[in-house]
Amino acid sequence: MILSDKARFVELLIPILSTSKNICIISHANPDGDAIGSSLGLFHVLSNNERRVNVLMPDRLPEFLRWLPGGADVVIGYDQKAQAAKVLAEADLVICLDFNQLNRVNGLEEGLTKTTAKRILIDHHPEPDDVFALGLSVTSSSSTSELVYDVAEGLGLTTNLSKEAATCIYTGIMTDTGSFSYGIASGRPFAVLAHLMDAGAEKERIHAAVYDSFSEGRMRLMGLCLKDKMVVLPKLRTAYISLTAAEIKQYSNRIGDTEGFVNLPLSIEGIVFTVLFVEREDQIKLSLRSRGNFAANEFAKKHFSGGGHRNAAGGKSTKTLMETIAEFEKLLEGYEKELRNA
Ligand code: 5GP
Ligand code: MN
Repeated sequence: MILSDKARFVELLIPILSTSKNICIISHANPDGDAIGSSLGLFHVLSNNERRVNVLMPDRLPEFLRWLPGGADVVIGYDQKAQAAKVLAEADLVICLDFNQLNRVNGLEEGLTKTTAKRILIDHHPEPDDVFALGLSVTSSSSTSELVYDVAEGLGLTTNLSKEAATCIYTGIMTDTGSFSYGIASGRPFAVLAHLMDAGAEKERIHAAVYDSFSEGRMRLMGLCLKDKMVVLPKLRTAYISLTAAEIKQYSNRIGDTEGFVNLPLSIEGIVFTVLFVEREDQIKLSLRSRGNFAANEFAKKHFSGGGHRNAAGGKSTKTLMETIAEFEKLLEGYEKELRNA
């Protein structure tokens, strides 16, 4: 049963939590700040002497998020296949955070699908799959991290919130809102942030650790993107950037070094749709961002086996980079009216 009522969700969660001794918290492939912040935040909130809590991620944490309290203990499916399968198989409760389709966990899909444990969802993406015993889905929430705070509050666990939990939840809200610039529909996230600061979250240190800790290579790769790799289509109010695997390798060997590049062209006046194409080993990864009414998630879902939020979505293609871009440019022609009216 998927709910948007936080109080009702907590009411139904309490008896489940009280009988769970081995909890697995899991988030999505290529985990971002909200995936990691919400998972580690919930880990710190729920950990106590009476139960075991493990955090499981399909892929490695990007370096700019690995410092988060508990980050070093996350079980990574990509590196620790057997351990990840064991964690899923032994769990009596699996809590899925920041994703709502079981196919978003790369190599862990089989274990997550077959688990006999209860699957619980806490998420803010639209259209959750009907595969959860209980779920909290609030698309108006800034982030899954904010929802983790709400759940912790409902459980009475925020009065003594640890600095570790506050730091993780703060980071998730900060990264999913572009440092509090979008995705905030009410004053509520700021009330939560205020409490997180009072609980020990160090605002400036967190900001610096996430945004001012990049390698020289990432900055030069960003320079390449802006100078040579950005294509602007003013008539379609669209801009895109593509990076080959070789270009990325030339400048960077860190996971997450292309994070945020997709947002750069949105600073150009009039641009309402941006896409970043990144060539990976076995596929092209698309990141899509939009402004206003243009639904990036619908575009990603319809054409690139993806999804996400209206203004921030992802997708993939198994064609070559060149073919994917050619397909994208062709598709765009059919969206001229929507883009002009966005
Ligand atoms: P990003 O561009 O940062 O990878 O992803 C942006 C948003 O889209 C995130 O909320 C992410 O969870 C979602 N997203 C990214 N890739 C996919 C995908 O392949 N499928 C779905 N359903 N959502 C995605
Ligand atoms: Mn999120």
